[in-house]
Amino acid sequence: KTLSTNELRQRFLDYFRERGHAIVPSSPLVPQNDPTLLFTNAGMVQFKDVFLGREKRDYSRATTSQRCVRAGGKHNDLENVGYTARHHTFFEMLGNFSFGDYFKREAIQYAWDFLTKEVGLAEDRLWVTVYEEDDEAADIWLKELGVSPERFSRIGEADNFWSMGDTGPCGPCSEIFYDHGPEVAGGPPGTPEEDGDRYVEIWNLVFMQYDRDADGNMKPLPAPCVDTGMGLERIAAVLQGVHSNYDTDLFQRLIRAAAEAVGGSQDLDHPSLKVIADHIRACSFLIVDGVIPSNEGRGYVLRRIIRRAVRHGYKLGAQDSFFHKLVPTLVAEMGEAFPELKRKADEVVRALRREEERFSETVAQGMKLLDEVIADLDGDTIPGETVFKLYDTYGFPVDLTADIARERELKVDQAGFEAAMKAQRERARAASQFGSGQAAAPDLDVETEFTGYEQTGHAATITHIFRD
Ligand code: ATP
Ligand code: MG
Ligand code: MG
Ligand code: MG
Repeated sequence: KTLSTNELRQRFLDYFRERGHAIVPSSPLVPQNDPTLLFTNAGMVQFKDVFLGREKRDYSRATTSQRCVRAGGKHNDLENVGYTARHHTFFEMLGNFSFGDYFKREAIQYAWDFLTKEVGLAEDRLWVTVYEEDDEAADIWLKELGVSPERFSRIGEADNFWSMGDTGPCGPCSEIFYDHGPEVAGGPPGTPEEDGDRYVEIWNLVFMQYDRDADGNMKPLPAPCVDTGMGLERIAAVLQGVHSNYDTDLFQRLIRAAAEAVGGSQDLDHPSLKVIADHIRACSFLIVDGVIPSNEGRGYVLRRIIRRAVRHGYKLGAQDSFFHKLVPTLVAEMGEAFPELKRKADEVVRALRREEERFSETVAQGMKLLDEVIADLDGDTIPGETVFKLYDTYGFPVDLTADIARERELKVDQAGFEAAMKAQRERARAASQFGSGQAAAPDLDVETEFTGYEQTGHAATITHIFRD
């Protein structure tokens, strides 16, 4: 019998509890202790101050299934959704953490033992990478655990060295990949073909080992720490013997619910159903965690994701608002593991329905305009003014237009859009100087929201977390 996603989550947490780890609940998607971060995007986020030694907990080992969102801002997986088998906007990151307790050897052993013994994966389907200079980790894998050198590689800093910021804790990583087999396109880690879906990264182990100072000198940390992350949906796919995350139990039920909600008979493999199934999780949990659709910041990211989902529903022929109808299925799947979802289900339905209704008033008109422009198009680029008009008049976020363009093998004129935006902003500013009572359109700044955290000391955290 294969493990359900829910059973697998529990299995992981129990495995680490049996090995002395405290099971800690997922923290919300809006980070509580880090205003520089858009959304919680890794298991370590809630423990950042513990790693830095600023906060003490009454345990030195923890395990979590952390809800994460990687959408919006400069680095995000939104564009991958529906196109790769393995990326979501919302996913759960399973993790085990050591705060100055065990280190490299145990972390590697736990991970290998979990995969090959606890859930019984064949060793010859796994591939391991270490940081190129990390001989210690290489020895543990090759000599102590007997991993085959043929399925092992040393990888450079860009992928296998992690740091919390320009200064502070940092150290090498080791990653475990699963080989879905030659039927799937893609090459092993470290090769140019890596970006396919054949070798899927399932688990990332980070060994916080050094303290880097402003001059780049690295001193060993007095108490090295461990931070690991494994995508629940990816390991569920592996254990359920399917290649795509979207073919797992949880996603299949969401996809069926989506097909039903948009009406008519659907090809259950349609990418739009995957997008909708992905987006209902992100949107619902963002609302659970206090984000509301708006024109700025987090709320704008939420609005973009909802509108993208709704547009995909229309593509499938939805006549009515449908997105909120998926909430009961989501609650049935995830409400046990996340009681806050169950508690706030009604609120989620209301917020989604309201946003869908707002958008549906103009979406048909916007699509009509876009279709006309595309029909008359000379080259392969949708002009910036059209992108702007769709945004300004019909509420199409730019990435929504880009999504439609991509489906039709077209490009969007990003620079032209930005110029139109700027002109609009200047007009608004001029208007407000004359006291015309027109708003100065602060809402129009949203497209460039949240690139600011790259300028903070947590830059490296963000880049690590979003590394592809
Ligand atoms: P990838 O290279 O596949 O984009 P990553 O290196 O960006 O993954 P990490 O930051 O190392 O991911 O996160 C730890 C784990 O979380 C990954 O090994 C993967 O299993 C999972 N994960 C990361 N991003 C996603 C996503 N967008 N959707 C689902 N799972 C993800
Ligand atoms: Mg990784
Ligand atoms: Mg990676
Ligand atoms: Mg990534």
